[in-house]
Amino acid sequence: MSDIDAAHNHRQKQAMNEIFTGSFTQQEPIPKDAIEAAVAVMRHGRLHRYNVGAGESGETALLEAEFAAYIGVPYALAVASGGAAMATALRAMNVGPGDRVLTNAFTLAPVPGAIASVGAVPVFVGVTEGLVIDLDDLAAKADQADVLMVSHMRGHMCDMDLLMEICDAANIRVIEDCAHTMGGHWRGKMSGTHGVMACYSTQTYKHLNSGEGGFLVSNDAEMMARAVMLSGSYMLFDRHLAAPEPAVFEAVKYDTPNVSSRMDNLRAAILRVQLRGLEDQITAWNTRYAVIENGLRGVSGLTVIERPEVEGFVGSSIQFLLLDWSAQKIGEVLSRCGARGVELKWFGGAEPSGFTSRYDSWRYVKSTPMPVSDRILAGILDMRVPLTFSTEDYELIARIIRNEVNIVAQSDL
Ligand SMILES: *Cc1c(COP(=O)(O)O)cnc(C)c1O
Repeated sequence: MSDIDAAHNHRQKQAMNEIFTGSFTQQEPIPKDAIEAAVAVMRHGRLHRYNVGAGESGETALLEAEFAAYIGVPYALAVASGGAAMATALRAMNVGPGDRVLTNAFTLAPVPGAIASVGAVPVFVGVTEGLVIDLDDLAAKADQADVLMVSHMRGHMCDMDLLMEICDAANIRVIEDCAHTMGGHWRGKMSGTHGVMACYSTQTYKHLNSGEGGFLVSNDAEMMARAVMLSGSYMLFDRHLAAPEPAVFEAVKYDTPNVSSRMDNLRAAILRVQLRGLEDQITAWNTRYAVIENGLRGVSGLTVIERPEVEGFVGSSIQFLLLDWSAQKIGEVLSRCGARGVELKWFGGAEPSGFTSRYDSWRYVKSTPMPVSDRILAGILDMRVPLTFSTEDYELIARIIRNEVNIVAQSDL
């Protein structure tokens, strides 16, 4: 054996023995300034958003103003969760029992759940190999509903210009689910500013972390006034800083039910500090994302999701495809990577488990099989990109995935 071969073998052996030991569910601690802001709220005890001292705006109202400014919209409402934001948006748009709402076949359970929670009926639209909503399928189904809840699932944005063209032509009002695109943009236009309303989550695994929480944003004054009433504002809407003028509420305040889902000052306090650091976090995510993406290129049988140049994304998770692999082989990749400390999720498993994301696992919705989407869904693997891991960690993680995918690809399974 030549020296070069020996060195190559040595490196290969090393690659096969490496193990990663970090925790994929460990997020960063809450920043020190945010902890101090939270402690200040606890010291004064005014946790309810409308419990404000003389001359005080309150953390929640301030957060809303800052979030609205960040997204570049006049109105923002902070609520108890991303799911609550979506249900509130649907109600504010007068979507009700029996109404059909178009949405992604590839998304997370809170999306069809929010639609079902108002008595409406999800109509699933297929997914492309780029992991975005299939715009041909959307166009084909455009006559079936007048609302689309488009989910930028795992941070992948479809051609938003084309989506809006299709929806405008068919008089479909669009709600954006930006749970994974807070801070993202399409062709320089912020994610969340394309449709009529947009929803965000501040649950621990999203881009800001308050445990639970969410936002609703809009340019539409009347819808936003309804959303504020729905969230449980009583008649205290004039204490908001990013809500429509009190006059707008005159038309809706007697007729809009209170479906309490408010944000509180404690969570708002820690979110305000985190929002100031969001752009730096995005850079940190995208640096890590690029390391894994590069590390996974050129592996036979593995498809990297190519991101469009005009998509400003936030790489807080990464996906790749093992297209047309058997369930057995995919299971083997998962368990072999898992044994080496790399936690991958398979969104396509037939039996729903964990954060499942296949339309046919939500059996409260009648759905027709979508073979083209099913093929893609069956091959989607997903990994979180915690900021608690370094770029060296991600180099190692990518080596482990490459190595195991290669081994399973060549096996006789
Ligand atoms: C997390 C999430 C939501 C909703 O978030 P919650 O705050 O957990 O209710 C909505 N859509 C997607 C795609 C999500 O991942």
